[in-house]
Amino acid sequence: MDFRYTTEQQLLCKSLRDFVQREVPREKDRAYDQSIDYPYDLYQKLADIGMLGIFIPTEYGGLGLGPIAITMALETLTYGSITASSILMPTSLGTQLILHGGSEEQKKELLPRIVRGEVRTSFGLSEPHSGSDAASLKTKAVLDGDHWVINGTKMWSSGADVATHLVIAARTDTSVAKQKGISAFILDRETPGVTISRIDTLGPKAQSTCQVFYDDVRVPAGNLIGEDEGLNRGWRFLNASLSLERLELAAMTIGLAQRALDDAIEFVNHRDAFGQTVGKFQAIQHMAADMSTQIEAGRALTQKAAALMETGEPHDKEVTMAKVFVTETTTKICIDGIQMLGGYGYSMEFDMQRYLRRALVQTIGGGTTQVLRNVIARQIGM
Ligand SMILES: Cc1cc2nc3c(=O)[nH]c(=O)nc-3n(C[C@H](O)[C@H](O)[C@H](O)COP(=O)(O)OP(=O)(O)OC[C@H]3O[C@@H](n4cnc5c(N)ncnc54)[C@H](O)[C@@H]3O)c2cc1C
Repeated sequence: MDFRYTTEQQLLCKSLRDFVQREVPREKDRAYDQSIDYPYDLYQKLADIGMLGIFIPTEYGGLGLGPIAITMALETLTYGSITASSILMPTSLGTQLILHGGSEEQKKELLPRIVRGEVRTSFGLSEPHSGSDAASLKTKAVLDGDHWVINGTKMWSSGADVATHLVIAARTDTSVAKQKGISAFILDRETPGVTISRIDTLGPKAQSTCQVFYDDVRVPAGNLIGEDEGLNRGWRFLNASLSLERLELAAMTIGLAQRALDDAIEFVNHRDAFGQTVGKFQAIQHMAADMSTQIEAGRALTQKAAALMETGEPHDKEVTMAKVFVTETTTKICIDGIQMLGGYGYSMEFDMQRYLRRALVQTIGGGTTQVLRNVIARQIGM
């Protein structure tokens, strides 16, 4: 396996580095962490440079990049700005669902608009009583003439309050095994009967996550993803989308870990104690050495998973391992980063706490580390 970047990949990373330095310098990124104002302008700028269509095929207006380039792009973007990569994620899973399950007409209608930033989706799978056991969802869709009528509650729908459209999974058949009776729908956020309330979290305030109530919401029959053929196939579309989602989460988290390490090194190389910089103490150096080793190991695992995915080989085990390993080690890296900064690490004026807060959710979203370990165990024959 070749770990060197091609010239094209190097150019992609450079243009993204320039983009975040110009559009979301550190101070601005920090401000988004504490402000509930959604950065519509940044979202549109991400659309303008093609990031919203990074995995969407060129025939639908996207960049059509493969998994290797996608991981590099997301690592680079997150290194520069947590906000920039966080606001991309809510739209990612809904978009993949349309890509994997949508009819040709739906893809032609929706994907180019997603790429241009006109359609911004939020994805609703989790519910108040079903997260890891997502297939137990209770939200129901019942056909009434040429409309589906949806009732239920979705929990943790990221970006729902600022989305133009909601992509949700709902039960359409209660008489079959739970995974077999689920369908996916796309609907306008302004549809009567939809009520949205924000949930306060440890995450950046500009990137909300929400509880969404569906009360007799009438959705045209044509909004069933995959149209007639999509009926009860929502779980299959979702599974087809999950691998890339987890790879993206791993890649973003490596960017976060590298940023935490670089900040920590910068700090300890300038902070004095006992007549020398604290970076000269072996205890501090060993912490940094472990952090760096973990980042390299996580990056290699993620790149291997991406390479397998790129060539169409089986990759579920490697993607899952990458997501678990990178998110867990990054949480530890951020905690060690706080330790290296001493009291300043605990201060809201330094970014280490922000990195830690972001790292923590990466071990939950896209499958918790516990549930993903079950997936790995199955993959290795247990
Ligand atoms: C900030 C944020 C944003 C999110 N965004 C979205 C979104 O946009 N759309 C969406 O649909 N969802 C979203 N989620 C939901 C996320 O996917 C779920 O939180 C996650 O799947 C876990 O579900 P849960 O919270 O219900 O925990 P539970 O499933 O109740 O799990 C509780 C604990 O039990 C453990 N556990 C559960 N089952 C097992 C098992 N079989 N073996 C071992 N341990 C187990 C879990 O690992 C966890 O530690 C988001 C969550 C957060 C926090």
